[in-house]
Amino acid sequence: MPSQNRRFFVTTALPYANGNFHIGHIMEYIQADIWVRLRRLQGHEVHFVGADDAHGAPIMIAAEKAGITPQEFVANIAAGRAQYLDGFNVRFDNWSSTDSPENHELAQQIYRDLKANGLISSKTIEQFFDPEKSMFLPDRFIKGECPKCGAKDQYGDSCESCGAVYAPTELKNPYSALSGATPVLRTSEHYFFKLSDPRCIEFLENWTSESGRLQPEVLNKIKEWFAKDEEGNGGLGDWDISRDAPYFGIEIPDLPEGSPRKYFYVWLDAPIGYLASLKNYLGKIGVDYERYIADPAVEQVHFIGKDITYFHTLFWPAMLHFSGRKTPSQVNVHGFITVNGGEKMSKSRGTGIDPLKYLKLGMNPEWLRYYLAAKLNSRNEDVDFNPDDFAARVNSDLVGKYINIASRAAGFLSKRFGGQLAAVSPDGETLLDHLQTAVGSIVELYAEREYGKAIREVMALADRVNEYVDANKPWELAKKEGMEARLQDVCSTCVEAFRVLTALLKPVLPALAANVEAFLQCAPLDFDNATRVLGAGHVIGSYQHLMQRVDIKLLEALFEPPAAPEPEKLIPGGEEIAPIISIDDFSKIDLRIARIENCEPVEGSTKLLRLTLDVGEGRMRNVFSGIASMYQPEDLIGKLTVMVANLAPRKMKFGVSEGMVLAASHADEKAQPGIHVLQPWPGAQPGMRIH
Ligand SMILES: [Zn+2]
Repeated sequence: MPSQNRRFFVTTALPYANGNFHIGHIMEYIQADIWVRLRRLQGHEVHFVGADDAHGAPIMIAAEKAGITPQEFVANIAAGRAQYLDGFNVRFDNWSSTDSPENHELAQQIYRDLKANGLISSKTIEQFFDPEKSMFLPDRFIKGECPKCGAKDQYGDSCESCGAVYAPTELKNPYSALSGATPVLRTSEHYFFKLSDPRCIEFLENWTSESGRLQPEVLNKIKEWFAKDEEGNGGLGDWDISRDAPYFGIEIPDLPEGSPRKYFYVWLDAPIGYLASLKNYLGKIGVDYERYIADPAVEQVHFIGKDITYFHTLFWPAMLHFSGRKTPSQVNVHGFITVNGGEKMSKSRGTGIDPLKYLKLGMNPEWLRYYLAAKLNSRNEDVDFNPDDFAARVNSDLVGKYINIASRAAGFLSKRFGGQLAAVSPDGETLLDHLQTAVGSIVELYAEREYGKAIREVMALADRVNEYVDANKPWELAKKEGMEARLQDVCSTCVEAFRVLTALLKPVLPALAANVEAFLQCAPLDFDNATRVLGAGHVIGSYQHLMQRVDIKLLEALFEPPAAPEPEKLIPGGEEIAPIISIDDFSKIDLRIARIENCEPVEGSTKLLRLTLDVGEGRMRNVFSGIASMYQPEDLIGKLTVMVANLAPRKMKFGVSEGMVLAASHADEKAQPGIHVLQPWPGAQPGMRIH
């Protein structure tokens, strides 16, 4: 057991609630989940929480486009989270949202505390305003021509063509990406967190360099951010934490009388969401939040991607410290996940890994957990996903080296010895000692997030066990007379060894470990009981298949670019084209040009008009047509149209109809109302046949 129980509060970065999880999120969650499971297996207390980052202009605008409220938009996204987390065996204790009541309250309180501490200032700034949408435009929603290279349709902060970085006010011919309107400059009072205050700088210089808090490469990067050039420029600048209405966010409290509503910039309240989700969770389990979070023994540990280092290592600790709160103990930064040697994931090129597709293909989530663990280290480095490497590590190492130990030994025990373990001979004891002694150092590697090294050590132990199996050949012992006892001894050693290896893989492979515990009929494994044997007389269950090998076809399917969607079959006019007919069939229909000599309403019908038609026969025809909704009778008189001249006369309520006038309409009258009478081009004469 650990000499002293520690208390951890662990988070992953809050995903922005404008889309589903991608593989980068899943990697971070797996990294953190392994660490959390490890700490618990060590006997420590851990609270592990997440939340959706719900606020900001992009979500507000996306919700407006979808015709729903931002709250509904975020709720829809949140509803899709569980299938990913459950699917990859990632077990958060709580999942909340930054739009929660706890976060509104905490964000406003932290702001008040910072203000009371003299670290909030205000100043008037000039910003682009969309006069049609009546809102200030975020940089990403202003477009125009690059001031450096003239490329069109560039964003307000940087040019994708030449890479130049500039202020939105420098764009040529700017326009609003929301309305297309030309934005106008307007002034607005903004609120700032005074990161440039000497108190902040002094605090952060000390805080960031305290041993064990940040990775060395992360600290080096931060030192660049602190640095000023010879003219005294650069260094930490004040941080604009306010946004004007309309904005989906938390209202800034205590503004001067008559001031328009202001909201916290999403990045102010996002990290506070860690505390809010914790508070929400502790409320559910009946633990006092204030007392818990103030406990100096509680270690606050964040797992984040390298792109949000600035927020988590400068703004966040300064906000916490100067509002009188405890700061993070560790901010663990990881790199991105790439594919095939550093290529950035791209869905369109088919190089991305869609986590849901992975699960839908029936791929084992623990393969991915194992593979990522084998590649992850404690440094802020990218992790490359290589399909051949993936298959090799799962098939050769995980299944070939580890699973095989159980499958080779357990069968003999259940068939020949009723599943009962024997006492282990000295050679087996030596092997087990070696494994048990290694537990402590491997657990330490995991704790330092050196998962790749830990996995290598575990596989080296598996190699040792396999050498023992090959040296003793249980399959030959099983055939020899008088070797029963030795067979039971060797197989018992293998099962005991397999149990130690399983404990060491349990943070990475929780579902597999649970199956092994059931098969071995042993207590839930931890790092304490793993160092003791099950012992002679313990009875194990019969061996069940524990893990499949990766079929390379699954990997091919995973990386297959999504099939181009079938072009939607257009149904012209709302109905399918009728079956093919021959020219003879067509010629049976006698279509003629007709002149509308007279047209009048039909008493008792709102649909029908009575037409008097001349088709050059020296007599008039009487035809009823359902076009009253579209035409005034007087508008049709004297016009030419087309009629079916050989249609059998039909007796109707209002008289006999001697033919039919051609008119066009959509099959679904409600979807597309209207009926349109045909009219020939000039030159056609009454009686002419239509071929
Ligand atoms: Zn440019």
